[in-house]
Amino acid sequence: MNKSPLEQIKELVEFLNHCIKMYYEYDESPISDFEYDSKYRELEELEKKYPEFVLENSPTRRVGETSSSSELEDIVYETPMLSLGDVFNQDELLEFDSRIKKEGFNPEYVCELKIDGVASNVSFVSGKFVLASTRGNGLVGKNITNNMRTIKSLPKVLKNDLSIELRGEVYMKKSVFNYLNEIKEKNGEAPFKNPRNAASGSIKQLNASITKERMLDVFNYTIVDPKKYGLSSQSEALEFLKDNGFSVNPHYKLCKDIYEVFDYIDEWKDKRKELDYETDGVVIKVNNFDMQEAIGYTIRTPKWAIAYKFPALEVETKLLDIIFTVGRTGNITPNAILEPVMIAGSLVQRATLNNEDFVRERDIRIGDTVLVRKAGEIIPEVVRVDFDRRTTNLAPFKMIEVCPYCKEKLVRKEGEAGHFCVNDNCEGRKKAAIIYFASKVAMDIEGLGEKIVEEFYDLGYLKDIKDIYYLKNHKDDLMRLDGYGEKSVNSLLDAIEASKNNPLDKVITSLGIRFVGGKVSKVLAKRFKSLESLMNATYDDLVNIKDIGEAIASSIVAYFKANSNLVNELIDLGINPVLEEDTSTNKIFEGMSIVLTGKLESLTRDEASEIIERLGGNASSSVSKKTAFVVAGSDAGSKKQKAIDLKIKILTEQEFLDLVEGK
Ligand code: NAD
Repeated sequence: MNKSPLEQIKELVEFLNHCIKMYYEYDESPISDFEYDSKYRELEELEKKYPEFVLENSPTRRVGETSSSSELEDIVYETPMLSLGDVFNQDELLEFDSRIKKEGFNPEYVCELKIDGVASNVSFVSGKFVLASTRGNGLVGKNITNNMRTIKSLPKVLKNDLSIELRGEVYMKKSVFNYLNEIKEKNGEAPFKNPRNAASGSIKQLNASITKERMLDVFNYTIVDPKKYGLSSQSEALEFLKDNGFSVNPHYKLCKDIYEVFDYIDEWKDKRKELDYETDGVVIKVNNFDMQEAIGYTIRTPKWAIAYKFPALEVETKLLDIIFTVGRTGNITPNAILEPVMIAGSLVQRATLNNEDFVRERDIRIGDTVLVRKAGEIIPEVVRVDFDRRTTNLAPFKMIEVCPYCKEKLVRKEGEAGHFCVNDNCEGRKKAAIIYFASKVAMDIEGLGEKIVEEFYDLGYLKDIKDIYYLKNHKDDLMRLDGYGEKSVNSLLDAIEASKNNPLDKVITSLGIRFVGGKVSKVLAKRFKSLESLMNATYDDLVNIKDIGEAIASSIVAYFKANSNLVNELIDLGINPVLEEDTSTNKIFEGMSIVLTGKLESLTRDEASEIIERLGGNASSSVSKKTAFVVAGSDAGSKKQKAIDLKIKILTEQEFLDLVEGK
């Protein structure tokens, strides 16, 4: 039976409060921050929909911890220490910006890295450090003065006899975290789980000498009552803090508008990994203090600031099974079959385990709870096992010795990590070659996906890639298959015919030659201009080309030696693209940076980019002052808005096509 909204709210509040208690009191994370944030969001949405059911003890009604059993002394705040609202994507940031604009403001923003540590409050009287406390529940914190004294990056005596109250983040450097864990390992002690929890546990010690051993650091970012010091903005406050000897994170930036904020986030989403401290997002603050005051606060957050949380690229799930697949070159890959989990917006059920060494080094076993990562376009990968959750005896991983398809003994070549099936007649390899040939990166034959290739292969219609072009001879048989009709078979056959018009580099890619992917294929197409002349190329011809090394050259020569009949047959079947010498002097987009955004109707993004590049331009992904123009399809979002703001010309798809055709 479905739960009522009130029951759902009660369950979420109870669960989140349990997590909060573990997190703030015991420095443990019962679930990942990403999962916590998702559940918190779920609760917020329910409370918005059913305000009559908002519970007294809901975490959305207060800051931080529920109550604290710590023996440290209580410190009461005159100015509460608040939390921050959070957003997870550009659209939500745009909403934040437009909420502020609706109130009649047009703010500049300061972007600061969101340091993943523990909030702290420090007070100086006449230039001397006198008091430090934790955030607690925002109204009452805990006295950590002695512990804070051990932090070298906090000055204890100021140059001026300033009386000031500040806020900041106490954190543990990644290098310190690793160093302390090495010592813990040597002493047979349980390691710290992550730098944030280690910092939190260390700053709340009753014995300051333990805190000292933990070598903590601090960054300060907020002055309580800044106007007292003649300051009118957050950027001035940060400069003032630096001038007075406080440790301020150097990577903050004053942004003119929300689009510059996007650029900042874009810049730091990967660069942050190089820092020696953990960051979990970017804090965006309205710069001007008068504006901040006018915009105001909720009970738990300022309305003039927001935390953009970086997407979780690593999520925990269960490893249900390990299966082995064979690739077109014979490479054997162990694959993790996972309990389905959302990572960075997509459902992941399978991840690569790369090869035997990878699995053994990480001691990955079926039944383990594993951390799975998805970064950009890369295939999901199992990063490591959560050994704390391995409760039963699980069988160690065992690499297979024979090919899962043809049962031939696998070979592990000298100096290579992978195992290979070297049987050229292996059915698994042949299927993989056909699947790859038809895939998006290769001939892009719509309707000829993995499952269909397997089915047609098993029925005997496909035995190698050339058979794809003979499928039309089996049209009647195909139409009689379960799940196929005249329409679907016709459109498949049309897509197959159309693939004959693919450009040369795509055709070269689709042959599946080892080491020859899209980039190398482009180089080869440019140099040889036809399949025939590439086929006749010698090792020396190839190795003398910039970007082609010995391994690639040998692999190409070996491929054509073994497959010349197949390639000749493909040519006879009409797959014989020839790269025309590009004689057009009409480089109308020479030197221009052009941005495509939204959904285009008659072209794919790749096709439009290719046109731009062919005509001398550069298809760029972000709008800046240097952008020549933006081509906006339907549903164009922030890039179009940015172009409007920067007064950059926006063309419709049709206007772009007219331009290309010289109209
Ligand atoms: P928060 O961490 O999302 O954001 C507010 C805090 O950010 C501030 O209090 C401050 O300490 C910090 N911060 C870092 N850099 C800053 C900067 N430059 N300017 C301003 N503030 C900066 O909110 P929160 O209320 O402290 O904690 C909630 C978060 O804690 C959750 O979103 C979740 O990530 C984590 N949490 C996890 C669990 C779990 O079980 N895994 C449980 C409870 C809370």
